[in-house]
Amino acid sequence: MTPRDTPSPAVRRSIHRKLLRWYDRNARDLPWRRRTADPYAQWVAEIMLQQTQVQTVIPYYERFMRRFPDLRSLAAATDDELLSHWQGLGYYRRAANLHKAAKLLTADGRDIPDSADALRTLPGIGRYTAGAIASIAFGERAPAVDGNVARVFARLFNIREDIATSATVRRLWSLADCLLPARRCGDFNQALMELGAVVCTPASPRCDDCPLGNSCKARAINTQSSLPVKRRSPAVPEVPHVVILAARNGAYLVTKRPPNGLWGGLWEFPNTQYRSKRNRPASISRLLADHDLPSNANAICKGTVTHRLTHRLMHFDTYHCIVECGTQRRGTRWVRANRLSALPMSTACRKMIALAQI
Ligand code: SF4
Repeated sequence: MTPRDTPSPAVRRSIHRKLLRWYDRNARDLPWRRRTADPYAQWVAEIMLQQTQVQTVIPYYERFMRRFPDLRSLAAATDDELLSHWQGLGYYRRAANLHKAAKLLTADGRDIPDSADALRTLPGIGRYTAGAIASIAFGERAPAVDGNVARVFARLFNIREDIATSATVRRLWSLADCLLPARRCGDFNQALMELGAVVCTPASPRCDDCPLGNSCKARAINTQSSLPVKRRSPAVPEVPHVVILAARNGAYLVTKRPPNGLWGGLWEFPNTQYRSKRNRPASISRLLADHDLPSNANAICKGTVTHRLTHRLMHFDTYHCIVECGTQRRGTRWVRANRLSALPMSTACRKMIALAQI
């Protein structure tokens, strides 16, 4: 942190008082906030909230906590059970890491670690998540800077540098550390996140309603709408695929994805990438051959499903065909149409099912 950033003790006290008072009156009633002393509940919530909006997370969180109410029930779950409670939430690596960490802890007879440093040794827990769990569930004086907090700080302290550079990241964490009060650290971290989520929003901050309005440097010089400064992200590549929805006696051929990487461990319909429209017929033929499906299967295109991921835009040209034979290889299954909904699948696959009206 540069010396000019260091808020004086009087400013820090004023920020603590105003922000905590505002939080006490305005905090949204969220399911994980009813269990702040439960580190497992905080852990699950923090992992689900990574890259995902609060309103999307709530129903998943409630269903997940009903089925896996504690560390032991999570550790005992099968991969398919876990994924079927995560499907649709995306970023499946999060679920795999959560599961792996639960199994590691229970195998050693340990509970969830009670410090940010120890939490960071678990798979899938980075600096922010460790700080959030440790401060909220254990009251540790640990900072937690997520995207919301970074935006609030960039405006509060009028930080004009790109917030993604390592120097600015260090500065933001240093500010967060310096601003933490001696008590109620978990509430203070949550209050900062809450302020970023509902008042100091990305497009149109509601400065007139902000408890920190009088301390805000950006507001004083009217720079808030140009902050935070972010490097422009490169254009997202588009990746075309063909997908075969092959039906045999009312059952569909599905294959299991490898455990690591995109949609790890989920089930999907046979698919492959293709380079250009010219290559598409050859890609379909190869896909049929790879799954021992008849080359003369009359595959009919039902349309294209488009699915956006953070770093790419996926297109799936979705073909449907009825066959009388097909593969029985390891990692593949024929699943009756009415059982597909019970199978853990990505949102993209669900869109294909809807498109083909299975
Ligand atoms: S005054 Fe406005 S810009 Fe400053 S922290 Fe509050 S909402 Fe954000």
